[in-house]
Amino acid sequence: MLLQAASPMAIPVITLDPEITAPAKQVSQPQVFPAYASSSAPLRHVDGAFTDAAKIRELAQQVDVLTVEIEHVNVAALKEVADEYASTGGRSGKGIKVFPSPSIIGTIQDKYLQKVHLAARGIPLAPFLPISASPSAPVSSDDPLAALVPSVLEAGEKFGYPLMLKSRHLAYDGKGNYVLRSADPAAVRAALDALVPASSLSLPGARPLTDRLYAEKFAPFVKEVAVMVARGASGETRAYPAVETIHRDSVCHIVYAPLRPPVDAQHGIGHEQRGLNAVVGKSVNERAQEDAQKAIDALGEGAVGVFGVEMFLMGDGSLLLNEIAPRPHNSGHYSIEACNVSQYVAHLYAILSLPLPPINFIPPAAAMLNLLGYSSSTKDDFLKPDGVVAKAVSMGAAVHMYGKAGCRKGRKMGHITVLGSSDADVRAQIAELAALLPGSYA
Ligand code: ADP
Ligand code: MG
Repeated sequence: MLLQAASPMAIPVITLDPEITAPAKQVSQPQVFPAYASSSAPLRHVDGAFTDAAKIRELAQQVDVLTVEIEHVNVAALKEVADEYASTGGRSGKGIKVFPSPSIIGTIQDKYLQKVHLAARGIPLAPFLPISASPSAPVSSDDPLAALVPSVLEAGEKFGYPLMLKSRHLAYDGKGNYVLRSADPAAVRAALDALVPASSLSLPGARPLTDRLYAEKFAPFVKEVAVMVARGASGETRAYPAVETIHRDSVCHIVYAPLRPPVDAQHGIGHEQRGLNAVVGKSVNERAQEDAQKAIDALGEGAVGVFGVEMFLMGDGSLLLNEIAPRPHNSGHYSIEACNVSQYVAHLYAILSLPLPPINFIPPAAAMLNLLGYSSSTKDDFLKPDGVVAKAVSMGAAVHMYGKAGCRKGRKMGHITVLGSSDADVRAQIAELAALLPGSYA
């Protein structure tokens, strides 16, 4: 989708991805950009892992600006090319700009460090604690996980149950989260076994046990909210509207834009606690946008590009930040059809150091439905003559199929965006479409 946004401005984009047939590589063919390619060194996509330093260097040699669409990348390699840029002053042949800055990607990669960073800068979060090895239960090679049990119980005592246990690294789509329901020893063991598989401890370069997990107080939210924020190279920010995100099995399933907060959550303690906001009567939506912009500013100077800010709306109207994605985000896909400038176009403007335009949400309401696989063959079900894609086309909705080669349960294969005259209108359209989804997603 970033490459689709780059195409009207003829911005050549080179993609690093393991698959030769990666969706982005299907969209653009850099070797045919005659204005940029030289016959001796035509621009070419790079096939390889975004954790592979050599591949990152190979990509960096072909571009002026490097950005990411996933945070689980090799930050050390990105730092190297960014530092070369800083020390050579740019296009003297060495180093390139990397946005967002590698150190910010590094902070976000570790969900615990991300929370420490944001909490220190006054961003409201659910209370959290690291899970570390206890001095009274030293790590034993027979049963290494036993060392973490006292720390888990301590967090449970402090925050109560259910308790959210989260992996600090490589988490996405709920993978890496575990809801611990009680202090029962078997339940604690099951949680630790699920989050820290024994096989992962013996891998070469494995992270230390005390670096793996953290605990978070369960937030009984009334809605999950997200705001996309664009931040430009000179530090200006623009917020997209606050939206409601609905998760199934911890995977984003539906987005409604803009957020329609329940009446009860419009006011209340959270509102009052913010002093000024209560006086001027700011809406939940405005507060969500302000908090999201504040959180991105708190990341620091190198926060350039678009960022997805996930939040919890509590019953008392207060907002807690859940996590930040340093890239275009599923909750912002609606912006392709519903805003004057999509999240992808805004990302390009930001990383190319262009000015940021005002962001306008155009229709009265919009909604997005993810097309999630549930088996290896679901893709064909979406495309059947009486399937969801044909229905969406007949309704005038926008269909995005990603062209991913393999389908499996929970994999995001595409999405559909509908625009409408009201929230009720787009909800009715989504219900009609969702009824055609296979399996449990109907
Ligand atoms: P991921 O990286 O998988 O998106 P998140 O930390 O955002 O991980 O968690 C995934 C989902 O789990 C959230 O969207 C939310 O539904 C739920 N969740 C996460 N943290 C909490 C919490 N502290 N309290 C209640 N639910 C939570
Ligand atoms: Mg999340």
